[in-house]
Amino acid sequence: MPQPTYNRRVIRRLPEMRAGAMREDLVHVQAYLRRYGYLFKSGEPKEHLAAIATGDIGLPHGLTIGRLDAPTRRGIQLFQRQFGLQRTGLLNKQTLRKMSMPRCSVMDAAAGPAAVQGKWPRSQVTFAFGSRMTPQLDPNHARDSIRSAFRSWEATGVGLHFSEIPSPQAADICVEWRDSNDPDHPMLGIEVAHADYPPFPPRAALIPSTPPVPLHFDDGEQWAIGAKPQRYDVETVALHEIGHCLGLVHEKNPVSVMYGTMYPNKLRRKPHPGDIVRIRAIYSA
Ligand SMILES: [Zn+2]
Ligand SMILES: [Zn+2]
Repeated sequence: MPQPTYNRRVIRRLPEMRAGAMREDLVHVQAYLRRYGYLFKSGEPKEHLAAIATGDIGLPHGLTIGRLDAPTRRGIQLFQRQFGLQRTGLLNKQTLRKMSMPRCSVMDAAAGPAAVQGKWPRSQVTFAFGSRMTPQLDPNHARDSIRSAFRSWEATGVGLHFSEIPSPQAADICVEWRDSNDPDHPMLGIEVAHADYPPFPPRAALIPSTPPVPLHFDDGEQWAIGAKPQRYDVETVALHEIGHCLGLVHEKNPVSVMYGTMYPNKLRRKPHPGDIVRIRAIYSA
């Protein structure tokens, strides 16, 4: 089973380094950059991204483990661009803080994939709940929160309609909680949830899985219905993950529901106007 390849506490404590400097625990930053799509081999096909995401951190040419070398600085710059930070390519405090924050497992867009990752070729999309809801919450309340998030995307008026069916095997999207050590894509460490893009056109999934498209919450995190300190609101996280299931990637604007890091004690109930523009761009095309 793949293990987390980086530790957020180590990242948080790293000192600023000069370009070219060497430090053993810089490997945590390199592993982070590799996992979320910032260190890639030139011309690397997208199918390889799935392998990277599950722990094969085969390294780009010219990269030295532990050295703040050119490929690593380039990766840091892409990360800084994705999160709207000053693009220094160096590990300033802001960058390290952002890199150690809880986040969605889905890779950021910097790796070069197009801004849109597939779309459903029909207006009716089904979802089902898997066998596991979190024991932390009343399962009926948790299911209602997730249904509400689907309705919020339906209300964007792009012509998608979501219906719930009982059988996860027959559904397009299956929603459930998983162990942190999720077999389809471990969420150990700072990852709160994950999902995958629509399987149309056919392509290699970011999260290796057979249909249905997974939407998984990490049961190792603390969950709530509503804003509660140290806990993630189910509907807020569901809204983000459903966005991936519809084809949206991570956005750099923190007001977007598709921003890649996640915050406890936070409520979001509707896609931001910018998100609506992007979902319309996919489904009206
Ligand atoms: Zn995400
Ligand atoms: Zn999963």
